Amino acid sequence: EIVFIAKETDAHEGRVAGSVESIKKLKSLGFDVVVEAGAGLRSRIPDAEYEKVGARIGSTADAASADVVLKVRRPTNAEIASYKSGAIVIAIMDPYGNEAAIAVMAGAGLTSFAMELMPRITRAQSMDVLSSQANLAGYQAVIDAACEYDRALPMMMTAAGTVPAAKIFVMGAGVAGLQAIATARRLGAVVSATDVRPAAKEQVASLGAKFIAVEDEEFKAAETAGGYAKEMSKEYQAKQAALVAEHIAKQDIVITTALIPGRPAPRLVTREMLKTMKPGSIAVDLAVERGGNVEGAEAGKVVDVDGVKVIGHLNVPGRIAASASLLYAKNLVTFLETMVSKETKALALNMEDELVKATALTHGGAVVHPAFGGAKE
Ligand code: NAD
Repeated sequence: EIVFIAKETDAHEGRVAGSVESIKKLKSLGFDVVVEAGAGLRSRIPDAEYEKVGARIGSTADAASADVVLKVRRPTNAEIASYKSGAIVIAIMDPYGNEAAIAVMAGAGLTSFAMELMPRITRAQSMDVLSSQANLAGYQAVIDAACEYDRALPMMMTAAGTVPAAKIFVMGAGVAGLQAIATARRLGAVVSATDVRPAAKEQVASLGAKFIAVEDEEFKAAETAGGYAKEMSKEYQAKQAALVAEHIAKQDIVITTALIPGRPAPRLVTREMLKTMKPGSIAVDLAVERGGNVEGAEAGKVVDVDGVKVIGHLNVPGRIAASASLLYAKNLVTFLETMVSKETKALALNMEDELVKATALTHGGAVVHPAFGGAKE
């Protein structure tokens, strides 16, 4: 059976769905691997590297014979039309609000999987693309902030005088936020962080950052069974905003990462708050693609809001594409391995498998995921 690793067609996507390591693994699972020429270039993987581990370098035309297509982004209609009916397609599908595109994949007879719907259970940890990519985004957010900040992050005591350490405040201490904290600490900043999940308090402290939150009864009950944030009451949001407003005025850099699954990102930093920051301060909004945590943040841009540089880069993991591809390719191949029979070394898809059920969008000509138009159980 043939696995095709596509070259991404989106001009802003530097990642690729295959690494040297992942291709070795695919070969050992019994697949023939075809990599579209130039697919890895923007992740610093030349075609020759893929060839060395047994992949054949092909063209878009090879997509037609693939049993499995591995991609970073959801395929376009033209790409979908180039795949054979019955092919498996695995990508970051961005399914919310894109029901029409999902229906096209169903119509083309594809069995499609959305990696971001992978359940966050122990068995699937190595397939967890939200974590693998958010971790790098958290790191990159600090690097992006450091590049725009016209001062040093660490305290420097020199013969010519002392440069003070930057104060960095991280809002949302999930996967991205925790890595942002760790990175900021490594660069010598004085770091504080907030989150609405009580469990985050200890994690923040263990990374050496100060935890800032209104810790009332609502806060103590604010985590869902899945470990995600709940949308907080208006009253809580107001109390928290007052505390945050006071804190932000003393910060040099704010990095926001707050998301609530299936909801728009909560607005955490207002224009009023930005106004209280010193000129040349920085705000990085990692939630900009989901509506934004920072008022005035613009998707894909660095804008000046009352003297504060507000960074709203799109696809932040893609800004560190070589590392992101490495981890993403591993997530993909680990997932695909669960669909391969150990005895026959052939694809043996089990639609009842927990991971398949959670991530399958389309199968057998129909949308199968209940959240995107499939039949409810
Ligand atoms: P996320 O990307 O959905 O959100 C980022 C963070 O923003 C979360 O910590 C959330 O609590 C926080 N947030 C939401 N609203 C906020 C607000 N108003 N103010 C401040 N912070 C706010 O989260 P994530 O990074 O995907 O992690 C979510 C949870 O999943 C965590 O508990 C994490 O430990 C857990 N997780 C589990 C696994 C696993 O078991 N395999 C893997 C990864 C993450």
